[in-house]
Amino acid sequence: MIKTEKVLHLKSSRGRKVRVVREHYVRERVPCYSSLCQADCDNDGKVLPGDLTHYVVPDVGVVVDYQEILEIRELQGIVFTQTACQAVHHCKGRRQYNRLRNLLKDPRHDCVLFANEFQEFSFCLRDNGESQEQWQTRCVYSAAVWYYNHLAGMMDVVMITEDQDIIAQYSNLHSGVYVISVQEYLQNFWSELQAAHELYSSICHALQEKESECTEREFSDHLPAEVLEAGIKSGRYIQGTLNVNKHRAQTEASVRTEGLSNKNTELSSEVLVYGSKNRNRAVHGDMVVVELLPKSEWRGKVSSLTKGQLEKNGEDIQSKRMPTGSIVGILQRNWRDYVVTFPTRESTQSQSRNSQRILTVPWDYRIPKIRISTQQADALQDHRVVVRIDSWEGTSLYPNGHNVRVLGRAGELETEIQTILIENCIHVPPFSDAQLKEMPLNSPEKPWKVDPARVAERRDLRESHLVFSIDPVGCEDVDDTLSVRSLAGGKLLELGVHIADVTHFVSEGSLTDLEAQARATTYYLADRRYAMSLLWELDAQTLAVNNVWYGRTIIRSSYQLHYELAQTLLNGEQAEVPELTQLNSSERDAKLAQLTQALEILTHVARHLRAQRDQGGALELEGVEVHAQLDNEKNITALVPCQPLEIHETVAECMIYANHWVARKIQETFPHQALLRHHPPPRQEFFTLLVDSAKSRGFTIDTRSNKALSESLDQAVDLQDPLLNRLLRMMATQAMSQALYFSTGAISQDQYYHYGLALDRYTHFTSPIRRYADMVVHRLLTAAIAVEKGQSPAKALATNKELDELAHHINKKNRAAQQAQKASTELFQCLYFKERDPHTDQCCVADAVIYAIRDNGVLAFVPLYGTKGPVYLKSREGQVLSVGQDGRCEWQSGSVRRYSDHITTTSLIGTTTFTLFNHITVRICVQSSRCHPDSVNLELVGNRPHLSTTLHQTPSHGRSQLVQEVVRLAEGATQQAQEKASWRPELSKEEQEFCQSKSPNLYLLLEEIRELSLMDLEYAATA
Ligand SMILES: [Zn+2]
Repeated sequence: MIKTEKVLHLKSSRGRKVRVVREHYVRERVPCYSSLCQADCDNDGKVLPGDLTHYVVPDVGVVVDYQEILEIRELQGIVFTQTACQAVHHCKGRRQYNRLRNLLKDPRHDCVLFANEFQEFSFCLRDNGESQEQWQTRCVYSAAVWYYNHLAGMMDVVMITEDQDIIAQYSNLHSGVYVISVQEYLQNFWSELQAAHELYSSICHALQEKESECTEREFSDHLPAEVLEAGIKSGRYIQGTLNVNKHRAQTEASVRTEGLSNKNTELSSEVLVYGSKNRNRAVHGDMVVVELLPKSEWRGKVSSLTKGQLEKNGEDIQSKRMPTGSIVGILQRNWRDYVVTFPTRESTQSQSRNSQRILTVPWDYRIPKIRISTQQADALQDHRVVVRIDSWEGTSLYPNGHNVRVLGRAGELETEIQTILIENCIHVPPFSDAQLKEMPLNSPEKPWKVDPARVAERRDLRESHLVFSIDPVGCEDVDDTLSVRSLAGGKLLELGVHIADVTHFVSEGSLTDLEAQARATTYYLADRRYAMSLLWELDAQTLAVNNVWYGRTIIRSSYQLHYELAQTLLNGEQAEVPELTQLNSSERDAKLAQLTQALEILTHVARHLRAQRDQGGALELEGVEVHAQLDNEKNITALVPCQPLEIHETVAECMIYANHWVARKIQETFPHQALLRHHPPPRQEFFTLLVDSAKSRGFTIDTRSNKALSESLDQAVDLQDPLLNRLLRMMATQAMSQALYFSTGAISQDQYYHYGLALDRYTHFTSPIRRYADMVVHRLLTAAIAVEKGQSPAKALATNKELDELAHHINKKNRAAQQAQKASTELFQCLYFKERDPHTDQCCVADAVIYAIRDNGVLAFVPLYGTKGPVYLKSREGQVLSVGQDGRCEWQSGSVRRYSDHITTTSLIGTTTFTLFNHITVRICVQSSRCHPDSVNLELVGNRPHLSTTLHQTPSHGRSQLVQEVVRLAEGATQQAQEKASWRPELSKEEQEFCQSKSPNLYLLLEEIRELSLMDLEYAATA
């Protein structure tokens, strides 16, 4: 070992330079961590592979400024020098240094640390007059040369730098060691790695900006992680997720605290964060740490309707003061892809145009403007673009980001639908060829056939059972079929539910399975002859269950009925059944009688099952209202309001029954690792609005149990106004918690209960073609059947922990789907009204019911269109809306007073009162927005019911008009999409039967989302 001296210039904490002289020992043997090593280095742990084209050695500047790029997993063969790592520690601090150390440890990243300053031949003594930077460069270059020589020239070495002088100085010194810029490196070696290129250009821009930026601080520094952790432990700080108020995004946000992380018992579950200084660069969704402000600075949330319009100093009416705090640090960023709109040319000119920095406005109100450095500002104006946030410095009012891709022109339907999907993190790429290959082979030359060996393993129901399906018109992917028959001379009944046996075709862990799992939705067709069946043997009189059989079957579906046809048969009316048209009349009559009888028995059984659940307290809530009608090619022919028919409820009831019994079976067999679905009882405080509102009309709503709630809702009927009950049910729905998947081992059994359905256990089994959860449940049921037969399951079951994680994932995806569904409904509503002149078109004037009172107006529901919106009674200029003697509305200066169940406006004209549940007449207008989603706005026309709402008008009239309009627009969008993408060829009958749909069109995608977002099959009895 040789002793030498190393001279360093360090920066002290006050910014002064300190000269440090250290004793330094160098040695001959320092591990190289390369598998090509010829010198028997002591290469413990991770080594660089030998089959690369080169190793890359980044210089100090690159490691310090471009570490993010070096973190990209695709990059291979990176050698980090000790010199560069130490520089990171000095320049960037411990946090980034730790990130670098983790990177070096992580086996998924192909990089190693070379202790170059301890290696006798790579270490350089610092020359007199040489700057620290020059010396560091020499050290790194020397390390690169050492590698080339140490590996006997078998591996080329590339040193990368951002300094042109270094390239000029070093690039021709040594053959086999190349010195090039980062950009050149990425272009030459990683031209396909788009993420790296984007990151590079965005970091470059950010660095340039930083140089030119004034260093005045806009925000206070975030505290180091250790301080935050200690503060949370001691109870000084509170940890939680930041939630920005959509309507007052600039000023109002709150932190939902998690569990019992705070010791301050005075706190509710929420801390208010007011203003951008206190928000301190946190973005909606981030996991943050807050410190409470002194009590004197606590405030309340604003409860008026608009965005800060009414808050003149001192005049704002605030709700109760609540704990208010300031964000001191961020534990975890929750940044995702954001859709933004680029400003118009005129408005960019006022921005600092020379620096090419553009302030873009996110679609989501809750996200701050994002600064993008780009050369394409002109080309992108009026476009919606996907961007990512890179950083948010304390010296900047806005975060910096880079653009990822362009979606299209704002306002075009396809762009808007894409926007909704991206904003909700829903990515649905078509299934790949590799995935399709996993499906059963089927071609005209070699059609897929039922395998006789497989048939033998299944119970054959083809001859013994009359099996039929009942679905919406045009429904292609039938996954549920039913059967019913009489046994033992009429003493017993056998009810059967048969679900497509999808897991027969999709094996666990296959590409298709993984993809379906990621989406939490499946979407393909399986052969319907293979089924998973449940057969209940019931007493014909009491309908008590004698026996249940579970198993794999082979079936033949005799009839593919749609709801309307089935109901017509049940009603004893004349109907054409397509499957019977070829028969002669006596044969036809016999078959028809047989089918009708089966439907009647089914209805009888379903009524009984429903009555049983009603006894237990099952709820009837407001569900999904519009349904798409598809033709054979899966084009939308109409969006129809669901006409509730009894047959809908009958089919739904059978499915609920099957799901319940499967839940029982898998839970009993696997008490700690079965996937079930529960619906936790709602929190009582959420019922306040419902209870108070009902009280104002003299009704008592008892919320102590689902049964009490259900019964009191049934009682709360105003014979004069059927809408009242509907609105109360809507409020009850609002108060509900979400139904969620869980693993049986994760919670105690008393929490398995499904509140809405009033069932002790429930799961999803009946829609494996659409929902991934059902696939998991099918596998569990198969395993349970094997256990019952004394066999061990074919594959090891997922553990409780794995299942619990999966449940969380699917729950998250479901929430996203619900959000997307809501946004798309609003989009279609706005499209319908946008094309109309609200002042001349009679479609825009409608009856509405007040369902909530706010400080400066009311919220109203328009039954004709199923639309909700705000009705302002006070303008931003402070004028109020009064209704004169003649019924005309006028804006006048005056005042507004809010009471619990009504609101009054007073002006020279007089006083007008607006009471909860009263009918008013409104004009529906669209409030257009360039950057955000359009919204429906309601203007008061009069405080009496709309005159044309007479008994003669069917309530679905306006709705079906809206629906036709939406269909027209959706078809237009589909056509556009077809022209853009090469459209899939029409599927043959066989393909339809065996293959998955490869590229669903945008509208189908939304339908798919709708499917996924159903609160539960049961809530929309019509779905
Ligand atoms: Zn070696």
